[in-house]
Amino acid sequence: MQLESGVSLKPYNTFGLPAVAQTLFRITSDADVRRVVDHPTHGLAPKFILGGGSNIVLTRDMPQLVLKIEVMGRRIVEERADAWILEAGAGENWHDFVMWSLAQGCPGLENLALIPGTVGAAPVQNIGAYGLELQDRFESLDAVDLVTGRSVTLRAAICAFGYRDSEFKHSLAGRSVITRVRFRLPKPWRPVLGYLELERKVHDTGITAPSPQQIADWVIAIRRAKLPDPAQIGNAGSFFKNPIVTPDQCRDIIGRDPHVVHYPMADGTFKLAAGWLIDACGWKGKSIGRAGVYERQALVLVNRGDAIGAEVVTLAKAIQESVYGRFGIRLEPEPVVL
Ligand SMILES: Cc1cc2nc3c(=O)[nH]c(=O)nc-3n(C[C@H](O)[C@H](O)[C@H](O)COP(=O)(O)OP(=O)(O)OC[C@H]3O[C@@H](n4cnc5c(N)ncnc54)[C@H](O)[C@@H]3O)c2cc1C
Repeated sequence: MQLESGVSLKPYNTFGLPAVAQTLFRITSDADVRRVVDHPTHGLAPKFILGGGSNIVLTRDMPQLVLKIEVMGRRIVEERADAWILEAGAGENWHDFVMWSLAQGCPGLENLALIPGTVGAAPVQNIGAYGLELQDRFESLDAVDLVTGRSVTLRAAICAFGYRDSEFKHSLAGRSVITRVRFRLPKPWRPVLGYLELERKVHDTGITAPSPQQIADWVIAIRRAKLPDPAQIGNAGSFFKNPIVTPDQCRDIIGRDPHVVHYPMADGTFKLAAGWLIDACGWKGKSIGRAGVYERQALVLVNRGDAIGAEVVTLAKAIQESVYGRFGIRLEPEPVVL
């Protein structure tokens, strides 16, 4: 366990926002977490668990202990008749893990290629993209409790996955340090191509039976065309969740604007495209201070250069107010605002 003081977090968050961690521990094993829990001065201090910093908005310096998760390692645990079981340390880069799994001949995660961040944070918000969510490929995870120091293995039922949601955002928030995640990749592999942009790729290329690698390449190309690369322009991906509304609410919103983009869900509710709502309020390309709305995708807020967290929050609030004023919908931020 390494302890560092006065650490700049600017390189550790993809928005590139300035903040300093008073104390930072690099966690490379379950035993490291227990050392923190048993520490005479730091054991009881408030803590923040940091992965790749791609889903956070830092608005101030961090007096709490920052636990930077750097548990590494990846392996094929088991090949069963009906699935491959893969495992990765929580500090592994998510995209590298997806590409590694494909190189091992274990397909199933290709739709989730190029999502930034770490393997350990993926269950926290049940990452999802292009018709697939982490919960569709989840087997179990290992976590260490920050109060008791106890290691546990958790299955999906305890994790309570939902749309960009899990128990790690509720009763286990800031309490459980995820150290390893296992994935169940079903055999035989079946492509997931229901998402509109992937259907379009099949149509445009004429490749009707794409390989897992082909799908990963398509996903990567689609993402690169529409999302800003955090290495070039600071951002945290989609800033707001797509709102889920009742049929009555959906009718009310369609009454306000018949063009509103909405998708029927299996449970009878409707999902609205938050980016469309923001665009309809005229925000695309606009800025407040040094924080702005990305020109190519209104759902993404960006750092136009040396922005501070307060500017991002001011912009986000202004967007929330105008969407509420026009559509009566309260947009909920996806990243954690600290
Ligand atoms: C350009 C871009 C595109 C994106 N696209 C998508 C997308 O398509 N789909 C999607 O779902 N998300 C997307 N995201 C959001 C982000 O990539 C994911 O939420 C990712 O899982 C965050 O990982 P991280 O390691 O950076 O987490 P961080 O930002 O470091 O942390 C996020 C939260 O998880 C907690 N946490 C982190 N690690 C652990 C751990 N080991 N144990 C317990 N808690 C932990 C933190 O305390 C915090 O609350 C995108 C982000 C960017 C910048």
